[in-house]
Amino acid sequence: MTMKAKIDNKKEIAKDVLQVDFTLLKQPLSFLPGQYLSITLPEMYYTDDRGNIRYFSICTPPELNNETWQFSIATRLSSSAYKRSLLRLLFGREVELGIVSGELLLPNNLTQEIVMIAGGMGITPLMGIMRWLQAQAKDRRWPRTVTLFYVNRNEEATPWLPELRDYDRKIKNFHLHLAMTEQADWQGLDRLADHEIIRKQISDYKNAYYLVAGPTGMVMKVANNFDRLGIRPENYKLEEFVGY
Ligand SMILES: Cc1cc2nc3c(=O)[nH]c(=O)nc-3n(C[C@H](O)[C@H](O)[C@H](O)COP(=O)(O)OP(=O)(O)OC[C@H]3O[C@@H](n4cnc5c(N)ncnc54)[C@H](O)[C@@H]3O)c2cc1C
Repeated sequence: MTMKAKIDNKKEIAKDVLQVDFTLLKQPLSFLPGQYLSITLPEMYYTDDRGNIRYFSICTPPELNNETWQFSIATRLSSSAYKRSLLRLLFGREVELGIVSGELLLPNNLTQEIVMIAGGMGITPLMGIMRWLQAQAKDRRWPRTVTLFYVNRNEEATPWLPELRDYDRKIKNFHLHLAMTEQADWQGLDRLADHEIIRKQISDYKNAYYLVAGPTGMVMKVANNFDRLGIRPENYKLEEFVGY
């Protein structure tokens, strides 16, 4: 049976970044933090040869028993017919959901330090994981130690900055390293976390567990850096946002 959901809300959470909230119609959605699904738009206001299906990571955490009736996605708006139609679709309109998949998951070993590396919209699955950890925070600590390296063009185009900065201030075992590549007045990092940055910031970098998400070119660069650092493939998961 095809799973269906209706659009509950839409809001621009950064420049040209749209968050869309959905409610499931007949059955709850079952997934693990970090996973993605396809969303088909049965009604397209515009058409092109790129079709009416796209993949999106879920940026909200599941609730009890890894199930939920509500979830959200976020996407960068573009000129594609899909994105323009999504922007125009009214609240209450139905979409079709594909099967949930994805291996960008927390490892079983609870003591292993987690290092997240995100580029642009690659933050979405990691947001789902961080919000899931936040829901279990005790004594201003998450159940796992997490360092996030997040690269974007500039602050204006970066979704969830206040939330990430808030975690950084309040959560003792969360560390945030933002990088902006096109912001003249930016004081922090200005590039993707390369081998030098990882070596400097992560003391036990060979034994940490890495979750990487972003455009294909960025993910490939990170994978090359892992080779250079001698980080073993069993210690990382890569997710390419094909299409960016
Ligand atoms: C596992 C996974 C998870 C993902 N999660 C997310 C997410 O959480 N958020 C998100 O925003 N995206 C996500 N994506 C990417 C998403 O599915 C879309 O591919 C992406 O958002 C771009 O969609 P688009 O409609 O803007 O562009 P698309 O129409 O998909 O095109 C992508 C690019 O290719 C070019 N292109 C493609 N076809 C043509 C053509 N025929 N003629 C000219 N140019 C063309 C376009 O110019 C554009 O730059 C994910 C992808 C994967 C695989």
